[in-house]
Amino acid sequence: MTEAARPKHLSLGEVHDLAFNCLIANGCDDANAQAIADNLTAAERDRSESHGLFRLPGYVASLRSGKADGKAQPRIEDTAPGVVRVDAMGGFAPLALAVGRKPLVAKARAQGVAALALVGVHHFAALWPEVEALARDGLVAFACTSTLPFAAPAGSAKPLFGTDPVAFAWPRMGGHPVVFDMATTSMARGEVMIAAREGHDVPLGVGLDAEGQPTRDPKAILEGGVMLPFGGYKGSAISMMVELLAGALIGEVFSFQAGEVDNRDGGPTRGGEFILAIDPARTSGGADWLGQGEALFHKMLETGATSGAVRLPGDRRYGNRDKTPRDGVAIPGALYDKIVGLTG
Ligand code: NDP
Repeated sequence: MTEAARPKHLSLGEVHDLAFNCLIANGCDDANAQAIADNLTAAERDRSESHGLFRLPGYVASLRSGKADGKAQPRIEDTAPGVVRVDAMGGFAPLALAVGRKPLVAKARAQGVAALALVGVHHFAALWPEVEALARDGLVAFACTSTLPFAAPAGSAKPLFGTDPVAFAWPRMGGHPVVFDMATTSMARGEVMIAAREGHDVPLGVGLDAEGQPTRDPKAILEGGVMLPFGGYKGSAISMMVELLAGALIGEVFSFQAGEVDNRDGGPTRGGEFILAIDPARTSGGADWLGQGEALFHKMLETGATSGAVRLPGDRRYGNRDKTPRDGVAIPGALYDKIVGLTG
């Protein structure tokens, strides 16, 4: 095995230092570097590999090309009792989200429901960190963001929608929140990129090649082909919803419009994210909403009691979260070398 192919074992502290130092070396200020490094480390901790250190070269590309501002100071705008608007000022999402979270929680508690409109932002991360944090504050949360035109609407072979992830979190009685976070394409683009890097096929239905034909070759999808929404017209409708919520609703662009101006440096495009936070204590009319949720989760798991094949979304991450602080993580040697090279 060559040195570059050999995985590199790192503690979570080393992951954080690697990310932080690389971001500082490439023009981030301390606040932005800290927020992004925290986010990347959390992804590695939970083994959300497609949104961990794998993303760092993309962040660096956007810092170097000048597309994103690593020193941006997000601005909060209080537009309505139930709305927080955060202008990321051309910076990355982690710091802007950290700035917007406290007022969003306060408004959701005061009003029963509140929305966060995050605009002028470069989002390159998983969405579970923002919804999970809200659920830990006792709120039910939904988030979505658009990306670049990577996916064709159902019936078409022409790119229009982003990979357009949606995430949802529900607080639990004495346990980790239940969280799902998924691209509305059959596969997240990061996963297709990892398949291409590692030479694996992807399942049919993930995308079409440049001739509009179904293919299992991730490179054919990424180079001239197109991704597909999951579940045909149903996933396509959810992608459309994400475009509207993270675009028109908050005064931001759609994926196809972001694509018209993006410099394709490999980093995140500029766009928006929409987050909704609901206080169940206000909407449930005093009913035992937590106990009701538990009843559903219990029944769900019971349906798989024999096969063991049913689990709650988020549990894979939480399982990893129990192990990685002790065991550390293994990252591809070539990625480690690349990050060291980018740090200079
Ligand atoms: P996956 O298909 O891997 O997982 C989607 C969700 O389903 C997760 O919450 C996962 O939980 C859950 N899940 C998976 N398998 C099961 C199962 N057998 N039973 C129950 N639940 C299950 O995610 P994607 O590949 O679609 O997306 C990956 C990430 O990419 C997301 O975090 C998304 O936010 C991110 N993304 C970000 C973009 C951006 O622009 N910022 C763009 C597109 C995607 P668990 O985690 O526990 O496995």
